[in-house]
Amino acid sequence: MHTKEAEAALRSALAEAGVAMDDVHRVFVTHLHPDHIGMAGTLQNAGAEIVMHGPELENAARMWSGDHSMIDETYAWFEHHGMPAAVDEGMRESWLEIGRAVDEVADIIPAVDGEELDLGGRRTRLKWTPGHTDYHAVLVDERERVLFSGDHVLPRITSNVGLYPYSRDDPLGDFLDALRAVRTLPVTRVLPAHGDPFDDLPGRVDQILAHHDERLRATLDAIGDDERDAYAICRTLFPVLRSAHEERFALAETLAHLRYLERRGRARQVKSLPTRWSVL
Ligand SMILES: [Zn+2]
Repeated sequence: MHTKEAEAALRSALAEAGVAMDDVHRVFVTHLHPDHIGMAGTLQNAGAEIVMHGPELENAARMWSGDHSMIDETYAWFEHHGMPAAVDEGMRESWLEIGRAVDEVADIIPAVDGEELDLGGRRTRLKWTPGHTDYHAVLVDERERVLFSGDHVLPRITSNVGLYPYSRDDPLGDFLDALRAVRTLPVTRVLPAHGDPFDDLPGRVDQILAHHDERLRATLDAIGDDERDAYAICRTLFPVLRSAHEERFALAETLAHLRYLERRGRARQVKSLPTRWSVL
């Protein structure tokens, strides 16, 4: 995100690598989250060309447009899923706050799935990896066997996969498919957007797949024999939530698991307010 501390960290890390900000000619943004796109405008002002997967760029423009329509839509929908109004209001505020740490950036260059991008002489291929966001994309350097994995495959934590009213139909289904799709890439080095580089891509993918299997089982257990709303299920799955952001991620992640189960005939929504879920 564009905070004073983050900009100072970027400048000093570049300086340490012997690179000035205006030496950066092209930047690829993996997805629209504020901790990824937040300083794109700063780099652009220093002379860099900013490139992004086309459809993700369209969503970014809508999310950070300042008209709050996505935020309003999300919270009305969260309320339908049992989120208490007070929590909802806190989340709304914190989302608006985050928006203030995202650079305004026009003229981002759209790229398509499979496109080859030259990054400082390194030939990389854009690969669409939906789930964490709808049009998240990674870069594959087949020659050097390197994967720039963004938030798709992370070494220590699992990526948040959430269902929102504007999401694709089944984000968790997308995510698991996209994990299986990168698992077989000819890659020996992964450079993730959070945490240290790592080498064993198939091993890490298998851990994440197993994690979601376990969470899907836990989701069915949390519904139990009753009909329960998603927020109640969420609080069973995530008993400790420390901030408005965590409440939002937890509910969206719970809904992504519920949708996955629904699409495979293992859970269903009961028409009620708030919407309740039962096991099939
Ligand atoms: Zn992210």
